[in-house]
Order: sequence, then C-alpha cells, then structure tokens
Amino acid sequence: IELANKGVQGLQPYQPGKPVEELERELGITDIVKLASNENPLGPSPQALAAIQAVLPELTRYPDGNGFRLKAALADKLGVEAAQITLGNGSNDVLEMIARSYLTAHSASVYSQHAFAVYPIVTQAIGAQHIAVPAKDWGHDLDAMAEAITDKTRVVFVANPNNPTGTWLTESEVRTFLNKVPPRVIVVLDEAYTEYVDKTDFPDGIALLKDYPNLVVTRTFSKAYGLAGLRIGYSVSNPEVADILNRIRQPFNANLAAQEAAIAALSDEDYLKRSVAVNAEGMAYLEGEFNRLGLGFIPSVGNFISVDVGQPAGPVDGALLREGVIVRSVAPYQMPDHLRVSIGTMDENRRFIEALEKVLGALS
Ligand code: PMP
Repeated sequence: IELANKGVQGLQPYQPGKPVEELERELGITDIVKLASNENPLGPSPQALAAIQAVLPELTRYPDGNGFRLKAALADKLGVEAAQITLGNGSNDVLEMIARSYLTAHSASVYSQHAFAVYPIVTQAIGAQHIAVPAKDWGHDLDAMAEAITDKTRVVFVANPNNPTGTWLTESEVRTFLNKVPPRVIVVLDEAYTEYVDKTDFPDGIALLKDYPNLVVTRTFSKAYGLAGLRIGYSVSNPEVADILNRIRQPFNANLAAQEAAIAALSDEDYLKRSVAVNAEGMAYLEGEFNRLGLGFIPSVGNFISVDVGQPAGPVDGALLREGVIVRSVAPYQMPDHLRVSIGTMDENRRFIEALEKVLGALS
C-alpha cells in the first residue's frame, strides 16, 4: 500500500529500554536492575498511590477531558493561567501536538545533534524536514541552531537539560537565542528534567514566557514526579498556542488515574526532595566510580549520565544485559562509544558498577 506521506516510510520506531520481564524470561534470573529509561528509582509518591487507589471505583467514567483540577493545581504551583496549560499523555504527546499544529510537509523543524529522539520522529511523521544541527561539547550549539533557521522553519526543539547528554544551557544563552528567533517560529523548551537541576544560572522556562510569545515549555510527571507509567505531561505557553494545541488534542488524552496521581504528586514536596537527593547522591557516586575506572563521562544535570566505555558500546550493553543490568546504548544518537545509565538507588548503582567493571575486564 503506497503511503502518501513519504515521511512515514522512512521512519524508524522509537526504541524503548528492554522490559525487565523480557530479560528475566531470556536469562532465567529475577534480580534484574533497569537503569535504562530515566525513571525515578524510588517508586511513586505514596500520596500519588493513595490518589490512584481512591479513584479506582470511578474508572468506569471518562476522565475530565479538560483536566480542570490538574490544570488549576499546576496554574497555582507555576504562577500561570490555566488557559496556558495543555495536558498530554506524557510530554511526548504534547511534542506531537506541536508538530501536528505547526508543521506541514513543506516546512522544517530544527533541533540539536544528540538531542531527544522524539523530535525527529514527530517531525518526520508529518512529512516535514528535520534539521539536526551539529552539537558543541555534546550540548546544543544555539548560535548554529539560530543560523540554521530558514523561511521553512516553523518549530525549534531545545532540550534543557538535554537527554541523553545531560548538558544544559544558561538563562543568558537561552535568552540570546530566543532574541534571534523570528517570532513566527515556535521554540519548544523541553524541561523534562528541570526539577533535578541545581544551578543558579539555569533558566525557569516558564518565567521566560512573558517575554517570548512563541515559546512553549514542556514538562512531565515521568521523571522527578515518578509517574512514567501513567503517562502524564504538559506544556505551558501563551493562551493562543494552548488554544491551537487544544483543537487537535485527542479528547481524554490525560487519563483519570494520571490526573489524580499528578495532582497528589504535585503537592508531595517531601517525595520530590527525596527524589532529587537520591539522584544527587547516585550521580556523585557514579562520577567517582567512572573516574576510578578511568572512564570519561559527560557531566550531567539530569537523572542519568552518559559514560564513554572506550570502545563500541553495543557489545558492552549486550554483556551488561547478560549480567542482568539494563542500560541504554545511545548509538542511535551518534554516540557510538557511550552508554546512558539512569541514576538508581545506591544498591542499583553499585550493581551497575560491579557489572560494568566485570564486563569491561572481560572485554579488554
Ligand atoms: N523530553 C525528554 C528530553 C525526554 O528525555 C523524555 C523522556 N525520555 C520526554 C521528553 C518524554 O517524556 P514523557 O513522554 O514520559 O513525558
């Protein structure tokens, strides 16, 4: 069957981390450690779990399609109007809505080399062109990205911090870039990992919105809020953009349990603090261990870190799997010698380091 949309023809599906159950079945072992998808290792917030329990008898009903209470809670927390918020089935859903709203087969998006894989996927799914701009020191080269904008460009994706590199941009770098972007171009500032960042000159994208009507900030409950499995994320933008996204949004795209859990997670500040602290401790441990093992790594402000294993990472990834440790080969991101590992609990981090040391010893 011929596809009218040639973009779809060349698409490669997004490759998620291998599920634990699949590896358990393959290896016949049960103590698998999964550090592959930048998930929160603490399990969900107890308050979120209670909220899900409480809503179970309501599952026969559709969720609130407008997400009134969650949007009100977010608006309150973020100091914005509810009319600026668009809820998504994960922030990926919002990224796709942006592509569907603002791109056509005759237009283009710009993003950075080594940036999140969903940007080219949602672009190409429209049949639009995606322009990957070479990275600088693994991070976004914003000057080069501004220069790559042409008459065809309608959307620019900027991840801050970026996945899988963990690199980040300062407020002045982001502002300088936004000042150069023509106002007709939507700039998506993807802040999926923002809660983990502890840097004084790191920008709060939402505070930038008042100066840049073409800015859309995306965030998620999948990472520091620990609700990846429920699929709930959102964007904050000017109300005009939110209105456009709302027109093409699937009805009921944010499910009932997700909305309730997100409201509860948002108010559980203790859980968020613990998540960030566990992450900082694990990050410091892994950096120390990589130094001890003589392995280079890209300093990261997210809940993951990409380590240079000094050889093609595919076989190392395969050998780690056989040790029951699931991490992520980032070869598809043009990082052939790097593995990305999510920060786990200290037990999980130690399991990973032990397995890595064993595997690299055996491969050398
Ligand atoms: N943006 C970035 C940079 C990510 O790494 C991820 C998750 N891997 C997402 C967005 C999407 O997350 P979700 O759809 O779970 O909100």
